[in-house]
Amino acid sequence: MKYVLVTGGVVSGLGKGVTASSIGVVLEACGLRVTSIKIDPYLNTDAGTMSPFEHGEVFVLDDGGEVDLDLGNYERFLDVTLTKDNNITTGKIYQSVLDKERKGDYLGKTVQVVPHITDAIKDWIESVSLIPVDGKEGQADVCVIELGGTVGDIESMPFIEALRQLSFSVGQENFCLIHVSLIPVLGVVGEQKTKPTQHSVRELRALGLTPHFLACRSAQPLLEATKAKLSQFCHVPAANILNIHDVPNIWHVPLLLRNQNAHHSILKQLNLTSVATAPDLD
Ligand code: ADP
Repeated sequence: MKYVLVTGGVVSGLGKGVTASSIGVVLEACGLRVTSIKIDPYLNTDAGTMSPFEHGEVFVLDDGGEVDLDLGNYERFLDVTLTKDNNITTGKIYQSVLDKERKGDYLGKTVQVVPHITDAIKDWIESVSLIPVDGKEGQADVCVIELGGTVGDIESMPFIEALRQLSFSVGQENFCLIHVSLIPVLGVVGEQKTKPTQHSVRELRALGLTPHFLACRSAQPLLEATKAKLSQFCHVPAANILNIHDVPNIWHVPLLLRNQNAHHSILKQLNLTSVATAPDLD
């Protein structure tokens, strides 16, 4: 199983869900089978009890799971049918660990965030990624994991640590990290600012995760000089700096990625270069 992790930096609501779904679309168009997992680091067990004014509509899955609306993006973009287990929340993870603790499964050990919560997260991801979601037999080739929230949030720390361990155990060629970040334009000078992204990449690296790609959200397309600066200061090759500027319709985002050859670079990172690399999205 190959994993593509999508994290977000600087601010929330950047379009991580749309970016992650679009990455799935270009990989699927290359002939790969794709599944997805959405991680929501909040303590609620699911989105069913949360106000839609605060959190957006609740999306109801075929199995009755009440989940974040991003799961709806995944189902529509990737033409898959997800299960409630494809949405991981802190509430679900703690509930499973506490149930095991009450049953005595930890055999008198002190139950801790590391390793018990982080192990539960890794086990959950590894087992759910194997569930076929596209109506065919057998497991998918790639699992796209979206980590909700913003890197540096206290509540996402156990997930970051679990994903760091997962990236180490599955190995370099099975793990690709795409960090979605904001490139604001300040004032009348109109300069695209890279510093917020530099800081969020630094934060991610301090937590043991190095992004292979930056997906930069900006109002207008990125200038070459901005890309060069990001590459130099964030330690990401210029070819792996993807620009996802504002588009009138989110269905354009997979085309933006295809036009920047994102599929080619992601397949290279995942050591899948034998796969046909000409996605037909038109
Ligand atoms: P996140 O998962 O980071 O919270 P979402 O994927 O839910 O963000 O997107 C937040 C909002 O931004 C959604 O309304 C989505 O339609 C919009 N959006 C995302 N990407 C783009 C884009 N490239 N251009 C215009 N709107 C976008």
